[in-house]
Amino acid sequence: MRSENWKVKNLIRKEVLRLKAYTVENAKCRIKLDAHEIPYSLPDELRSKVVNALNRVLLNRYPDPESKVLREIISRQLKVNIDNIVLGNGSDELIQYLIAVFGNSPGKVLYPVPSFAMYNITSRALGQIPVEVRLDKDFDIPIKNFMLTVKQEKPHLIFLSYPNNPTGNCFSGDKIIRIIEESKAAVVIDEAYYDFSKKSFLSYLKNYKNLIILRTLSKIGLAGLRVGILITHPEIVTEINKVRLPYNINSLSQAAAITVLKNRHIINRQVNAIINERKRLYEALLKIKGIKPFPSEGNFILFRGSNSDAIYRGLFKKGILIKNLSKPGALKGCLRVTVGRPEENEAFIKALRKLV
Ligand code: PMP
Repeated sequence: MRSENWKVKNLIRKEVLRLKAYTVENAKCRIKLDAHEIPYSLPDELRSKVVNALNRVLLNRYPDPESKVLREIISRQLKVNIDNIVLGNGSDELIQYLIAVFGNSPGKVLYPVPSFAMYNITSRALGQIPVEVRLDKDFDIPIKNFMLTVKQEKPHLIFLSYPNNPTGNCFSGDKIIRIIEESKAAVVIDEAYYDFSKKSFLSYLKNYKNLIILRTLSKIGLAGLRVGILITHPEIVTEINKVRLPYNINSLSQAAAITVLKNRHIINRQVNAIINERKRLYEALLKIKGIKPFPSEGNFILFRGSNSDAIYRGLFKKGILIKNLSKPGALKGCLRVTVGRPEENEAFIKALRKLV
C-alpha cells in the first residue's frame, strides 16, 4: 500500500466526520458561572469522611460492576426498587446507552429545541436521526406540532429536559402526559435539575411502561464524580445493561458518592442556598434595563441582552465566565448564567450593570 493513497477519513463513518467535538470553555476565570456547577466544595466534616472512604478503596481491584451499594442507597432515597436503577458515568453516558438501545438502522430521536446539546450529538454519533421541534414563544412544547411530528416520524425515543436546559422552565405537565400516553416511543424525562425544581415524573413510573427518568449527582455538587442515575422498568434496565460498559462507575466515584449520599442533608443545605440565590439573582436581573431574564427552575438563568457578544467579552475581561448561547432563532442575544455564591452573583450583577 502506497501511503499517499491511504486516507484515514475514508475509513471513518460519515456521521462521525460530520460531527464537531463538544467543546467546553476551559478558560481560568476568577468567577466561574458557566457550567451549572454548585459553587461550594464539600464542607470539611464531609470532605474528611470522603477522604477516609477513598483511603479504603483497593485500586488494584476492579470496581463493583453493578455499583450495588450505591444503587441501594439511591433506591432507598428515591423509594424505588434497586432493579429499577442503572448508573452511568454521568447522565451523558446514560443518554448514549438509551440511544444505543432504542435506536434502529437508522432510527429517529425526537426532542424539542433549544434543549440539551447531547441529545443531538449522541444521536448523530450513533448513526441515529435527530428530529427537532421548536419550542413555542414561552419555551413550552407546541403540542399539536409535536404530536404531528410523532405521528409522521415515528421516533423510538423522545427526550424532554425537565426543567429544560438552557431555557430553565418546566414544560406543561399535561403536555408531557399526552406525549407519554399517545406516542409509542420510550419517553425520557431528563430531570438533571430536579433538586432545584422539586418537580418530577418519578411517581408516574407505575402508570407508564414507556417512561424513563434521568437524574444526576452533577448538579448537586458532585460534577467531578460523574454519576448519572436512570430509573425505569426492569425490562428496559435489562436491555441497557447489555450495552453498558462493565465497570462504568469507577471505585473512587462509587466510594465518594456513597459517603456523600449518606450525608444528604449537607448537600440539601447547599441546594437550598442556591434556590434562594436564584430568586435574588433573577430579581436583580429584572431591574437591569436592556436585560430580559427568563424565570428558571434550574440552578441557572437564561437572559437576553441586546449585544450578547459584548456582554460575554466584557464579563470575561472582569474575570467572570458565563455561557454565550446566542445564535439566530429562539436564543438570539441569549446568555446563561449559573447561580453562584452571593458574592459571585453580586460581582456578576455589578459588572453586567456597567456593561449595558
Ligand atoms: N441532562 C441535562 C439536561 C443537562 O443539562 C446535563 C448537563 N449539562 C446533563 C444531562 C448531563 O449531566 P451529567 O453527564 O453531568 O450527569
